[in-house]
Amino acid sequence: MPATVIFFAKVCSLVLAISSYCYGHSEHHHKTISAHKHGEAEMSIAMEGEDVEIDLQSSAADIVGFEHKAHKEDEKLQLAQAKLTLQAARSIFQFEGGDCKLLEQSSDFSAVEDKISNIADHIHTTHINIPEAKQHSDISAHYHFKCTNIGSLKSLSININEIFPAIEKTDVSWIKNQKQGHSELNIKKKKLYFH
Ligand SMILES: [Zn+2]
Repeated sequence: MPATVIFFAKVCSLVLAISSYCYGHSEHHHKTISAHKHGEAEMSIAMEGEDVEIDLQSSAADIVGFEHKAHKEDEKLQLAQAKLTLQAARSIFQFEGGDCKLLEQSSDFSAVEDKISNIADHIHTTHINIPEAKQHSDISAHYHFKCTNIGSLKSLSININEIFPAIEKTDVSWIKNQKQGHSELNIKKKKLYFH
């Protein structure tokens, strides 16, 4: 065996312990294994000038009830419904004061979307198979609001625990200009004050 091949094999066996890098690009997708806790979501809110950027990250289980790729029709329907629910920023976030308007919203369901399910033969190329029961998948959403009167912003109510009852607790970290804070929201506590 040429020395370079041996070297690469050694590097690979080392790297494999921590990642799937050596499987290279023949995989048609990469599964993400995150260390999330079911029942707990994370949110970060960054306010600078008139811009308010909000990121939500949750286990897919708490949003759609599963963490595998959506194969069945009812699972795909659940994804579509959850996307619409997350798009409805006005029902999730209620600003008191601030004159805030939503500029853009996006969500990432790629961990549970089966992009190739419509291909007739459903050909899977060789890739690492992680048993679905052991797999964790996240769903994330991003919101960008513009608040033209940010000085008058008193509070922000976040209804995420009500809309997705499986999320029992939302850890919110926020930063407003120089100030920062942390809050734990739940079904009973949904109002944030930035002071
Ligand atoms: Zn999970």
